[in-house]
Amino acid sequence: MELILNKDKCNGCGECVKVCPFGAIELENGLPQTNENCRLCGVCVKKCPQGALKLPEGTPERKIEDARDVWVFAEQKGGKFAEVVYELLGKGRGLANTLNQKLVAVAIGSELEEEAHNLIAYGADIVYLFEHPDLKDFNEKKYGQVLIDFIKQNRPNIFLAGATSRGRSLIPQVAAALETGLTADCTGLEVDAETGLLLQTRPAYGGNIMATITCASTRPQMATVRPHIFPRTEPIAGHEGKIVKLEPNLDGLDDVMEVISFAQTEIEGPDLTDAEIVIGVGRGIKGPQNLPLVEKLAKLLGARVGGTRAVVDAGWLPARCQIGQTGLTISPKLYIACGISGAIQHIVGIQSAKRIVAINKDPEAPIFEIADCGIVGDLFEVIPVLIEEIKHKRGEENV
Ligand SMILES: Cc1cc2nc3c(=O)[nH]c(=O)nc-3n(C[C@H](O)[C@H](O)[C@H](O)COP(=O)(O)OP(=O)(O)OC[C@H]3O[C@@H](n4cnc5c(N)ncnc54)[C@H](O)[C@@H]3O)c2cc1C
Repeated sequence: MELILNKDKCNGCGECVKVCPFGAIELENGLPQTNENCRLCGVCVKKCPQGALKLPEGTPERKIEDARDVWVFAEQKGGKFAEVVYELLGKGRGLANTLNQKLVAVAIGSELEEEAHNLIAYGADIVYLFEHPDLKDFNEKKYGQVLIDFIKQNRPNIFLAGATSRGRSLIPQVAAALETGLTADCTGLEVDAETGLLLQTRPAYGGNIMATITCASTRPQMATVRPHIFPRTEPIAGHEGKIVKLEPNLDGLDDVMEVISFAQTEIEGPDLTDAEIVIGVGRGIKGPQNLPLVEKLAKLLGARVGGTRAVVDAGWLPARCQIGQTGLTISPKLYIACGISGAIQHIVGIQSAKRIVAINKDPEAPIFEIADCGIVGDLFEVIPVLIEEIKHKRGEENV
């Protein structure tokens, strides 16, 4: 079966050559000709401005239900996969099991094979590796093209990526090229038991509501997720998978960008994302002059101090310490919220903390709804008592 061309309508504009994901169309004497790479995917038919192309009768229709498997983009830097990749593999494994489909990781870079075995240990059934010296460093255009072509060929059901700075620049252009929906910055992902659709939850309208979004009519269902939203699960003992090495097609991709070197940025403030204990301060702290009280508790517990946007906006803490929707997402073992009301924009940044302790003088403060332990009281009275109690206990233990 071959693509059908209406010569009267075709003006030889070459749009079909440009959009064909398989490089299967060439212009001969000004008219499109397909070669053996044509898969009758129908992209050119959809894109032809003159409506001059048609699929032959009997071409199997590409149905939504035919899209299969849960894919995770295995973002890497310097040959090491990002932490969020392992978090997404844990979540993706659960989604794939519910749908009875495979979990697939797609990695682009250079010399990744050794590291790729870790992706299998964390639940991937298949790892597709696109390796090439030209792909060693992140390049939006090249990585984008590799992903777009590969997704078009294989039609995954779900495609997940980290909402990292790279993910945020790469994934929207992939979704746009695939003409499918993308829900950015999801804080929850589940499978709808009735429809099998991916339920993608994220804050909407300035964080005033949590919206659950579905992508019913196109595939893949694409979502990005910020690091630390989902916990990193343990490797699955004995899990088996395979690594498939693929040749990237980089033809026609000019180098518009050259990477000269990488430099580490110096940012003011502590790194909260890998801290086991974080103390969050809110407007209830009243001013920067009172931070030493919280820092004393932090020192005792080996904790780091972060805060709400209100506190950062007031200049009491550096911007790097802001936790929440427009700041960091953290997942410490213990989060102690001091004088924080518990606005949804703050909660989305701490919801994966293992334990939350809240100190607030208002018993109605929303923070108590998510706290594992709530202390209703004035933080200026509660924190000194806590400090004394911890010292006392430690003193007793040392005896
Ligand atoms: C688009 C958008 C994005 C946002 N992004 C973020 C974000 O990333 N992170 C974020 O945190 N916020 C964010 N916000 C702001 C958010 O809506 C809240 O305004 C903010 O989190 C409130 O900070 P807070 O809890 O410190 O202050 P408040 O809401 O003013 O709460 C202060 C709390 O302290 C308590 N308190 C006062 N005195 C004491 C005392 N002596 N002892 C004990 N408790 C006391 C009070 O009872 C009160 O509950 C965003 C808002 C918008 C619109």
